Amino acid sequence: METQSRHFKENVAAAILDDDLKGAMSKLTSALRPKRASAVAGLPEFDQLRDHGIAIRMHTLDHIDTYLAQFEDNVIANGGHVHWCADEDSARQTILDLCRQHDVRTVTKGKSMVTEELGLNTFLDSHGILPLETDLGEYIIQLRGEHPSHIIAPATHLQREQIAETFRQSHTHLDADRPMDTAESLTEEARQELREKYGAADAGITGANFMIAETGSTIIVTNEGNGDLTQTLARVHIVVASLEKIIPTMEDAGVLLRLLARSATGQDMSVYTTLSSGPRRPGDPDGPEAFHVVLVDNGRSGMIGGSEREMLRCIRCSACLNHCPVYAAIGGHAYGWVYSGPMGKVLTPSLTGLDQAPDLPNASSFCGKCEEVCPMRIPLPKLMRNLRTKQTEMKMTSMRQRVILALWSQLASRPALYRLVTGTVTRILARIAGKRGAFRWLPMTGGWTKMRDLPAPEGGGFFARYNASRKGDH
Ligand code: SF4
Repeated sequence: METQSRHFKENVAAAILDDDLKGAMSKLTSALRPKRASAVAGLPEFDQLRDHGIAIRMHTLDHIDTYLAQFEDNVIANGGHVHWCADEDSARQTILDLCRQHDVRTVTKGKSMVTEELGLNTFLDSHGILPLETDLGEYIIQLRGEHPSHIIAPATHLQREQIAETFRQSHTHLDADRPMDTAESLTEEARQELREKYGAADAGITGANFMIAETGSTIIVTNEGNGDLTQTLARVHIVVASLEKIIPTMEDAGVLLRLLARSATGQDMSVYTTLSSGPRRPGDPDGPEAFHVVLVDNGRSGMIGGSEREMLRCIRCSACLNHCPVYAAIGGHAYGWVYSGPMGKVLTPSLTGLDQAPDLPNASSFCGKCEEVCPMRIPLPKLMRNLRTKQTEMKMTSMRQRVILALWSQLASRPALYRLVTGTVTRILARIAGKRGAFRWLPMTGGWTKMRDLPAPEGGGFFARYNASRKGDH
């Protein structure tokens, strides 16, 4: 998928004026935040589980070459095949070659963010292979010609009425006057549309939440069961997964799956947890004739030894998105690529290049909520700061920004001067603002005042208030 992250600011300007989006984001955050909080409160050992999960991920990253090799050996022993792909071109071509090798014309797909990175649907379509998304959210956005706006809820930017309209326009063989005013009726219609397609597909393509080295198995979790149907009913099962999804053992999977479901949707476990360990064996009642794993690097190996290494611990739970005030205001599409929210602000520039996503590491209020809720305790604010430092070192920031930061650095490193200047400026601004207590415009604050007033400082600065509070004045 071609990144549009360079257009972040324009995308944001459009997103914050979109009332449908505002309503949809409000529903998402008000539903998922309390669910996660309640799930975490219901598991007293959640923090120990986090420590355990982090240890698993860090150990695996330290020995990723060993575990990937072990995984490949076991996939082959199970009768499957592993294909190593350095970048998106080679991954796309490998999948196309596999489709041709197995005479595949139609493909059902389970939700997979890596295949979004590859722009796989468009690529397969252009080579005469028909891909059909089977996750409900992915199905909806495929009909609309859009990309996911959330890593576990791809159509979360849409209101129910918009989805009903999409179905009316797409399912033209159905009664035009059918009632479509409930989530249940929309889900049932999608289910009926998809059901017959599973059996008719030649291949099923899924992602993987984890790959288990000791057994050569891949795991996907869903709440709809579409992953099971995708991979068991087609002749060929192709798993497309990025390198860092590898973990050593089945026991490790148990730890990470408990963290994943609670952090994502507040469930103890996702409804379906499906393991794939090769093609159908003699005596198996179902399963694919052929099993392939396409291992995609696409920039990950470059991160392993770099300053964004901790990002590779991510288990794609989406908790950081669901709790981010910036994501809640602008939705996922504004980020311009597959990954959005706080994790996208680090992952997108790391995988596509800082020059492709220069605004993302700066699009944060640094409230720290993302790190607080992340089951892997990924220090997202720190990683964003790392990327900002790189931008400055690479002179990617404007001259004006560099001059302001240099002046600020001089000021911040001289406490007496800092107090004098900030105290004076604070008093002047408070006086100018007067009773209104806010500015419609101030020099160099255009980005803020374009959309809203800028509150004026109230009373003294931080040190004045701090000193007053110590004297018991507050
Ligand atoms: S960064 Fe953390 S919270 Fe965000 S998706 Fe990844 S694991 Fe979940």
